[in-house]
Amino acid sequence: MLMRQVAEAFQSLELTSKRSEMTRFLADLFEQASAEDVDILVYLLRGRLGPPFEAPEFGVAERLILVTLSDAVAMPPCQVEALYKKKGDLGLVAEELLPQERSNLTLRDVYDTLRQVATATGAGAQERKIRLVSDLIKRSGGLEAKYILRMLQGRLRLGVGDATIIDGLSEAAGGDYGLRLQIERAYNLCSDLGFVARTLFTNGPTAVEQIGPRVEKPIMVALAERLPSPQQVINKLGRVEAEPKYDGLRLQLHKDHDRVRFFTRRLEDVTGMFPELASAALRQIRAERAVLDGEAVVYNPETGEYLPFQVTVRRKRKYGIAEMETRYPLRYFAFDLLSVDDRDLTRESLLTRREELVKVLRWRADDPIEVTENIITDDAAELERFFQDQIQRGLEGVVVKRPDSPYQAGQRSFNWVKLKRAYRGELRDTVDVVIVGYLVGKGKRAKFGIGSLLAAVYLPQQDKFRTVTKIGSGLTEVGWMEMKSRLDELRSERKPARVDSLIEPDVWVEPAVVVEVLADEITRSPMHTTGKVGSEQGYALRFPRVVSIRMDKGPEDATSEQEILEMYQMQQARPVEQPPDAGKPGKHAA
Ligand code: ATP
Repeated sequence: MLMRQVAEAFQSLELTSKRSEMTRFLADLFEQASAEDVDILVYLLRGRLGPPFEAPEFGVAERLILVTLSDAVAMPPCQVEALYKKKGDLGLVAEELLPQERSNLTLRDVYDTLRQVATATGAGAQERKIRLVSDLIKRSGGLEAKYILRMLQGRLRLGVGDATIIDGLSEAAGGDYGLRLQIERAYNLCSDLGFVARTLFTNGPTAVEQIGPRVEKPIMVALAERLPSPQQVINKLGRVEAEPKYDGLRLQLHKDHDRVRFFTRRLEDVTGMFPELASAALRQIRAERAVLDGEAVVYNPETGEYLPFQVTVRRKRKYGIAEMETRYPLRYFAFDLLSVDDRDLTRESLLTRREELVKVLRWRADDPIEVTENIITDDAAELERFFQDQIQRGLEGVVVKRPDSPYQAGQRSFNWVKLKRAYRGELRDTVDVVIVGYLVGKGKRAKFGIGSLLAAVYLPQQDKFRTVTKIGSGLTEVGWMEMKSRLDELRSERKPARVDSLIEPDVWVEPAVVVEVLADEITRSPMHTTGKVGSEQGYALRFPRVVSIRMDKGPEDATSEQEILEMYQMQQARPVEQPPDAGKPGKHAA
């Protein structure tokens, strides 16, 4: 496949924000691709060189790209720089300076070279990168170079999410959206959409159906819905299994013989950060290969107390791991077993999976990996007592699960329900929103150039981000300045394709940064697009303040529109009361 064909499709994608058109362009593009090219095409559409958990970072500085471009077009760097200042995008500069004729550069050439650029290390790496990029630019036409340079800068931003790519693949391979669910299921189990696309194009839909969890690939995590009280949980689910809800870091543990890897819920490989858990896994897990789901929590060895999320996250830092290990030892509470010795357990019931988990884990007192305790009950009073016990221990609450449910990778469903300490008199739970823009504002903070954040929730069915609030508090002055510089890196000249907004902020940003906010209530609002149908009002968070930055979440992991509607319903059904403990901060309070 020629890079030219890909660049033309990228251009069409860039010019529309209509999902149906995007799907059509993608389907056309996939139809032109061979089975050998389709996986890299899927990766490059998201501006990556592989699935998120193993794609190398480009690591090419802007200056280096600029100098390389000026060398390739034989123009002094100061002139290229002047053009860059005018256009604000090196891709557009390259498009103007390079010839528009077709080049015979293939998609494979581009991908292989970009991988060499990204993985070059050691002495002379910089020179090698320059030479590779320069050769690539010299062989490109203007349009190809535009997208290649944007990729190198991590600024491709075509506005296509996984959901739209899945629709495009389904249409290309089956003529309609009929394969969507199969592709999505397989993707949720291996987190590698390129691999799924290649399997589909090589061996057809039956082969896609056979994709199961694998030790070498992270599985998208199952997520929980919310309900307000034990009674409502029992009314909705009947007999339940309930476990303590630990306030730590979700970690998926993959053991493959003598190798152990850990993945976060964003599919980041964080193996190097938890060495003592890795050696515990080798000691404690009886199987050759196994995938466990669980929560890692740090505790204070003197008091035995579990410490909050923020402290666990600090453990993730790469440096000072040895020191952190003694100061903040870890426990890993395993609550699920997804595969063991290549047996796919995701289709088994929760109770079967837990039985297998108990069997597979060797455990003696003080071993760092343990299975979460649990109760099974259909009695709301018993569930309430178990819940209160967890609160007494300083935990967040409980996660209640359907005993006969399969593991629904990548899905938020009522198979799991979280019951958290209520912030009575306030919204019961925090909400995770994605920043899609900011307003410069007036007053004190205007001098920093940022006054409030325009925030959105996610609508997975349409792959859209709909605005739900403007946030003007909760960050320190330094926090606001850091936020501004992070957002400026994501700045977009126009409204990003996936954003649905009636408010025009001063600066649009690509949806990437997720913040946890606590708000007083959800109200109906004409200003926001969340839940808005026709001329009806949408929904908005009132008096939101930032509680934490959710580094562990990607934009698609933000609270969904559906959850906001459910929280609104719960709020309407709640008696109005103002207990003395109202206003406690959220789980991730710094
Ligand atoms: P929250 O901010 O409430 O943790 P979330 O969006 O991070 O929500 P949810 O799926 O809504 O994630 O809530 C479940 C989370 O609770 C899991 O992602 C996991 O990190 C954590 N957790 C703690 N203990 C358990 C448990 N026993 N079973 C399942 N999840 C648990």
